[in-house]
Amino acid sequence: MPASPPAASAALPLRRIRVLAVRPVTPRSVRITFGGESLAGLTLDGPDQQVKLYVPRPGQAEPVLPSPDPSGDVMRWYAAYAAIPEAERPWMRSYTIRAHDPAAATVDIDFYLHGADDRSGEGRSGEGPATRWARGARPGETLGMFGPSAYFATPVTVGAAEWTLLAADGCSLPALATVVEALPPGHRALAFVQVADADEELPFVTAADLTVHWLREDVSPADAVRGAALPPGTPYAWLAGEAGAVRELRRHLLQERGYDRRTVHFTGYWRRHLTQDDAPTPEDLTEARERLESAEGRARG
Ligand SMILES: Cc1cc2nc3c(=O)[nH]c(=O)nc-3n(C[C@H](O)[C@H](O)[C@H](O)COP(=O)(O)OP(=O)(O)OC[C@H]3O[C@@H](n4cnc5c(N)ncnc54)[C@H](O)[C@@H]3O)c2cc1C
Repeated sequence: MPASPPAASAALPLRRIRVLAVRPVTPRSVRITFGGESLAGLTLDGPDQQVKLYVPRPGQAEPVLPSPDPSGDVMRWYAAYAAIPEAERPWMRSYTIRAHDPAAATVDIDFYLHGADDRSGEGRSGEGPATRWARGARPGETLGMFGPSAYFATPVTVGAAEWTLLAADGCSLPALATVVEALPPGHRALAFVQVADADEELPFVTAADLTVHWLREDVSPADAVRGAALPPGTPYAWLAGEAGAVRELRRHLLQERGYDRRTVHFTGYWRRHLTQDDAPTPEDLTEARERLESAEGRARG
């Protein structure tokens, strides 16, 4: 949450979006193009635009969504959402707008299909409702979308530092791609991206001077960065992926490299063996507090 959220009376950015097309991007990811009248007039404020998707329960043609509170108060809307009986309440999951076509009023979202193999020991039963939905999505199906909203976004200051350090995994790769696309021409950037195999290595479109280090799952991003020769000067760091891996890499940057914590933007995208419905762990709460403090520090300059 940003240090100064917009006025509580701002119109709620809640939309119903309809699947127009589904196509594979890699063996483990699909790109879904959504349309719908409510996407007309959508504007994006920079890269890395996250949204909450509402996925219907089995047997529902569309997700059940509470009516927005007339005051437009986000907190009241969440309370109304939470009050929907659990058997009807849609699953809420975080995703990133990979691309936006204002003329066609469409957005693309890339879904990483985790649980596609059995290496986690959880198999497909570990995939979760959003991934299960995406794996079987067909044109005409409807989801709810909340956002983009400044209430749950931390602005990304692309190209503000001497150079940029990026780290991602399969599910944060779409967000990383939007960040590298927004980097200024010639800006030095290093990306460490951990994917299952070579089929998941996607080309990036960027005007920046970008070097990508592709990592496999047996090398942690922290170890890879620890062993790398990094450019001199202070980078702006953008880290996203499994919460424990992000935490380890952030610790390395702050404690071993001595980078300023205000220049390290970090987000745990998923937690091993925990779903997005599960309560925050004490470490999650500590990080949420630190993120808020960093945002306040940035706001103060
Ligand atoms: C700000 C933000 C933006 C995000 N953007 C995207 C995006 O654009 N595309 C995208 O694919 N994901 C994105 N994610 C990650 C996505 O929200 C999670 O992977 C989410 O848990 C998927 O929901 P689910 O219902 O499939 O699984 P859940 O029900 O949440 O979890 C079920 C099981 O799957 C495991 N699991 C969850 N995610 C993963 C994973 N990535 N790899 C391996 N195991 C996993 C959990 O540990 C759990 O055991 C984003 C997350 C955040 C916080």
